[in-house]
Amino acid sequence: MTVAAPPLTRVPNFINGRWQDSTASDWQDVANPATGEVFARVPLSDSVEVGKAIDAAAAAYPMWRRTPPEDRIQPLFKLKALLEDHQEELARFITQENGKTLSEAKAELRRAIENVEVACGIPMMMQGYNLEDVARGIDESMIRQPLGVVAAITPFNFPGMIPFWFLPYAIACGNTFILKPSERVPLTMRRAFELLEQTGLPKGVVNLVNGGKAAVDSLIDHPKVRAISFVGSTPVAKYIYARAGANGKRAQCQGGAKNHVIVLPDADMKMAAQIISDSAFGCAGQRCLAISVAVTVGDAQKVFRDSITEAAASLRVGNGLDEGIQMGPVITRQSKARVESLIGEGEKQEIFGPVLSLVHANSLHDALAFLERSAYGNQASLFTSSGAAARRFRYEAPAGNIGINIGVAAPMAYFPFSGWKDSFFGVQHGQGRDAVEFYTEKKVVVERWAAEHSRKF
Ligand code: NAD
Repeated sequence: MTVAAPPLTRVPNFINGRWQDSTASDWQDVANPATGEVFARVPLSDSVEVGKAIDAAAAAYPMWRRTPPEDRIQPLFKLKALLEDHQEELARFITQENGKTLSEAKAELRRAIENVEVACGIPMMMQGYNLEDVARGIDESMIRQPLGVVAAITPFNFPGMIPFWFLPYAIACGNTFILKPSERVPLTMRRAFELLEQTGLPKGVVNLVNGGKAAVDSLIDHPKVRAISFVGSTPVAKYIYARAGANGKRAQCQGGAKNHVIVLPDADMKMAAQIISDSAFGCAGQRCLAISVAVTVGDAQKVFRDSITEAAASLRVGNGLDEGIQMGPVITRQSKARVESLIGEGEKQEIFGPVLSLVHANSLHDALAFLERSAYGNQASLFTSSGAAARRFRYEAPAGNIGINIGVAAPMAYFPFSGWKDSFFGVQHGQGRDAVEFYTEKKVVVERWAAEHSRKF
């Protein structure tokens, strides 16, 4: 007896508080990277659908910005509780569509929840400042106001976390929001938006549009969209930053990476190898903070090479849903073939897979000079037991996120996710206070009320 295959999920858009089947003519398969099984179809929405989401967000904005901050954060408290309650289920969506292990999926959801928690502090974080008597009887103050409609475009590698670097801050600040998640992993956010729907947010405050380049271009070009947050590869980050700038929008664009670790001979070599192995091979090397080049200094070379080889060989690779698996597959068969073909050129390329290049330097000075030559600056790490070396590294390393005896220096939600060079285009980063700066504009008010102090004309 043949059993009929279950129907493929058609991923809908969420516009103006309603789930809508897309009218797109182009659809793309969504496959489980561990099995190759296609289990959903995602629409590549066009400018008309994106326009509807923008109109919905624009219509919701006047009411939402007038909602007191204290009331704006109440749905976020509910969202936190819902994300906690549905963590296991969301993690399964992440593993199913991205391939990473279930424990890695849960870990990324923790950071998502943490960002929701931090954004609940908006009544404090959004405050301005003031000074009385800047001249006799004249007071001056700075207030922060939301921008209006803002949008975020996110990548495949953290389907549950990266949208939450933006969404909670954007709406807590009084903006209305449109998310365009990666078309390769649309189901985690589909489920997250079902949870958002239960929080009591008014219609149009958050919208979800699935799609690819055409949807992105429509967001960037639409005059009602005031700001764009982007995370993805460097060429696309550069393109979006330039196009948003040409359209007069503010943009924060996080790009790709090639992260280095320097291992000094005085490091605890066993610990270093374990931690660096986790950084290089965790999430199948598809973390933007994954270490991809280890620079050993002096005598560290041989012992580190042996330890890291042993750590890498001991990893259990397989389907991320299976118990005891430490590394899942990369996102697609094509990515695997690409990673394999790039291994030979690894020193120059951004491989974005579970590959660690080993390089040797004679001194910390030479190792730092090597890092200086990299086009990227997302993260740099040092393993050492010397405070002086650590201090020098922290001071001189050319990257925005620094790890000292840390393999993945991922900033907590109340610190900015920094990034330098070709890993970031913009001024304000994601998360924490930077997010509040990004999603608000400053207004300065100078006031004269005290008649007795008025100038005589
Ligand atoms: P990607 O650049 O291919 O896609 C990211 C987003 O941009 C997706 O939503 C996609 O639909 C859209 N997009 C793709 N091509 C486009 C185009 N030509 N025009 C307009 N939009 C386009 O990135 P990815 O493969 O999904 O993600 C992996 C990359 O993201 C890696 O390079 C990784 O280093 C980087 N990343 C960086 C950070 C960071 O913090 N700097 C974090 C996570 C991932």
